[in-house]
Parts: sequence; C-alpha cells; structure tokens
Amino acid sequence: MELYKLPAHKLHQLIKKREVSVEEVIISLFKRIEEVEDKIGAFLSLDKEEALKEAKKWDKRLSREENPGILAGIPIAIKDNICVKKRETTCASRILKGFYPPYSATVIKKLKEAGCILIGKTNLDEFAMGSSTENSAFKITHNPWNLETIPGGSSGGSAAAVASGEATMALGSDTGGSIRQPAALCGVVGLKPTYGRVSRYGLVAFASSLDQIGPITKDVTDCAHLLKVISGKDELDSTCLDYPVPDYPKFLLPDVKGIKIGLPEEYFIGGIEKEVKENILKSAKLLEKLGAHLEQVSLPHTEYAVATYYLIATAEASSNLARYDGVGYGYRTKEEKNLIDMYKKTRQEGFGDEVKRRIMLGTYVLSKGYYENYYGKAQRVRTLIKRDFEKVFQKFDALITPTSPTVAFRIGEKIDDPLKMYLSDIFTISANLAGIPGISIPCGFGRNHLPVGMQILTKAFNEEMLLRIAYTYEQNRVNS
Ligand code: GLN
Repeated sequence: MELYKLPAHKLHQLIKKREVSVEEVIISLFKRIEEVEDKIGAFLSLDKEEALKEAKKWDKRLSREENPGILAGIPIAIKDNICVKKRETTCASRILKGFYPPYSATVIKKLKEAGCILIGKTNLDEFAMGSSTENSAFKITHNPWNLETIPGGSSGGSAAAVASGEATMALGSDTGGSIRQPAALCGVVGLKPTYGRVSRYGLVAFASSLDQIGPITKDVTDCAHLLKVISGKDELDSTCLDYPVPDYPKFLLPDVKGIKIGLPEEYFIGGIEKEVKENILKSAKLLEKLGAHLEQVSLPHTEYAVATYYLIATAEASSNLARYDGVGYGYRTKEEKNLIDMYKKTRQEGFGDEVKRRIMLGTYVLSKGYYENYYGKAQRVRTLIKRDFEKVFQKFDALITPTSPTVAFRIGEKIDDPLKMYLSDIFTISANLAGIPGISIPCGFGRNHLPVGMQILTKAFNEEMLLRIAYTYEQNRVNS
C-alpha cells in the first residue's frame, strides 16, 4: 500500500497502531513528490530535511503516547501566502521574494500543536488574485487530472498537491472562491469557513473583509478534523470571533433525513456546462432519495455579485498592497534615483500585470468623487446579497449549487481575457460577500472526464451542517 494515497484519518490508524512510522509516511510523500512534481509544479518551496527531522521527533514522542491526536505526524502543505516563521513567504510575487517572516500565522501554530508536519509552500496566483494559478510570478501549476489544464486558483498549488498525492492535506485561502474552485477542478474537498471562524493573523492580506483560511483535503472526514484544529478565537485577529468550536468530526453522520435544501435558480443559468449542471442535479436527487427535502429557491441579487466583489476586493487590495514599497519587505529595485523613484520602480518591477490591474482599479474606486458611486454602492449591494441568504436560511438548512460553471479549462485559454477569468468565480464569491461558509466536494466527472465539484452553503457558523450533508453524499456517492 502506498502511504501517500491515504487520507489523514487512515494514516492515523496505522500510526497509532505503530504499523507505520511517521518517518515512513514522510518518505513516501517525498518519493511521490520526486516522481511527479516536475510535471505538476504544485510547490514553490519544499523542506524535506526539516520534515524528516520533525517526523523522527514525533516517532519518538508517539512511542510514549497512548492516544495521539488524529493529526499527529500528518504531512501538510501550506499555501505560500500564509506566514511560516523563517520560511520564505512569497505570495508567488517577485515583490516578496526574499521575505522571511519573523513570526508564524496563528493557523501554523495550531497545526504544529496538533502535530502536523509542514512539507512545503504551495503555488498560487500572485497575492491570491486569480482563478487558474497562471498569475504566479514563478511557475505554472498543472492539473493532475490533465496536465494541459489549469488546477483552478488561486490555491491551485494546494489543490493539485492533494489531488496528486504530493500532500496528505493542505491549507488554502479563499477571498472569492480560491479554496472551493481549485478543489472542485482537482477533484478534492475544500472548505471556506464562516468569516471570523479562523484567524487571519499571518495570512498576507488581499481583501481583508473577505479573506479566510481553510482546509483542502482528500475527503470530508479529514476536512472536519483539520477545520477543528485551525478554528477558534485569536487575540491577534480582532475579526476572529469568540464562538465555541464544535467538535466537527462528531457531525460526520450519514443522515440527511428531514434536512431542507434549496437549489437557487440563479445558479443554474446559461454559461454553465451541461455536464456540470447534470451532475449537480443528479447529486441533489441522491440527497433527496436519502431523505432530504429539495426545493427551488431564489437569491435575486446574485447577478450583481461579480461586479460587487471586484469593486470591494480591488479597493481593499489597493490599500493592503500599499505597504510593498521596497522598504519593509522583500524586493527593492536596483536602479533608484531618489526615494519616490525607488517606490515607483520597486512596484513596477515587483508586481505582475493582474496585481497592477487591481491596484489601479481599486485606487480608482476609492478616489474622491467616485467613492460613493462605486465603493459605497458596492457596499450597499453587498448588504442586499447578504440579506438574500439570510432570508432563504430562515426556511432552508442549506443550498446546493455548482462550485464552478465549467470543469478545468486549458492553460492559456482565459489568461488574456480578465473578464472571462473573473466569471470562473460566479458561484463562489457571494458566500464571501455574505460571510457564510461553503464546501466543495467531488461529485463525478464532466467534459473530458474532468472532475466536477458540488458546492454546499449554509448560514454563518453552521459548518456542522455543511459537513453532515457533504459526508452523507460522500458515503453514498455512486460515481458516474
Ligand atoms: N478568483 C478570485 C479573484 O481573482 C478569487 C480569488 C481568491 O479567492 N483569493 O479575486
């Protein structure tokens, strides 16, 4: 049996019974990485030596421990916009090349306490801006299901690493769909928690009112365990809420009897691939057969979500990215005439095209005279989108939608057409605007035998419900 293929909860059984050592798990993972990483390109950096050192430490410790935690000794990959102390954190941007954070993100501390072993940092669209991972300044990541297609984005490296067996699990970040969409396109599980569920301390900010860190895993069980570990209040992030963390794995019950699920009509419109739509409807029917109650619902402001998101996200990004001026972090131009010139050249040379496009757009929408017409209006529409969800969740426990309108597209297909690329997130961004949680789980295959993802949404702080529905579906799925 190849250890790299197993989800964390299965590895845990073997580790606990001492049938395998943590060192063997890490060796299996790195052997797999050596075999396929050339073709996939999921990682920006790897740390085999440190991982092996940690593994040995855990093996020693586990030999004394009766009941090790479920993530003790489990290898994990981290999206390279999450700070790990003294490990280069680039956000796939030239401007952060050479930035070694002097501290670790709260989620990293929590993972370490749980015993996870960090194996490397994964590729992403520069500063998490994109839907295909093609905006990385350093490399292209390929979808393990078809190397000519994109893995989705912006957490494409994390999703591809889990799908290819290069990582047992991974962390991603989701501002408008960046966990769920790559998870869908790579055939793995990805969950964006409620805004405020997981600390953002140490996550490099893109759009602070939308960003959340979340798990990317091989199955729903691993997702529940990883979510439990990273969730909870943090003094270092004032937007992280003081809500008790439920024992998420307890909600992995294969039972949806009486659960009310809505199918929003606005999510099954033109532009969506026939096979994607068929798969989602078939999957919803399966849940109905298992006892759920299905009904069509409406979220009338959905059509404004993409426009609203690209105003708010770019506005926040333009402000967050102002700090990269060649002084505090990473890269500085070699050719400076004076201070202002140094700022300008550093940013000109350090940022890629998509990041510059967003800084310009964001600066514009925040500028005097336009602020009310664009940013102010977008904030008001955001409230309307949020209210749409609040209204349906008074009657329904969850919503089911496609995660992405298409399966993985070809590398290069949309890179020159930003508007087309922006539409990849049409089904995921509303959840970020409303602050609600969402999960994407594999639900069969579409065009060219590429994976399709089903998205489940619930009201804020109801991840238990997401996990329960997802688990029931996973246990009963008959792959088409
Ligand atoms: N694709 C969206 C964007 O480009 C969302 C990215 C994300 O969730 N980080 O902004």
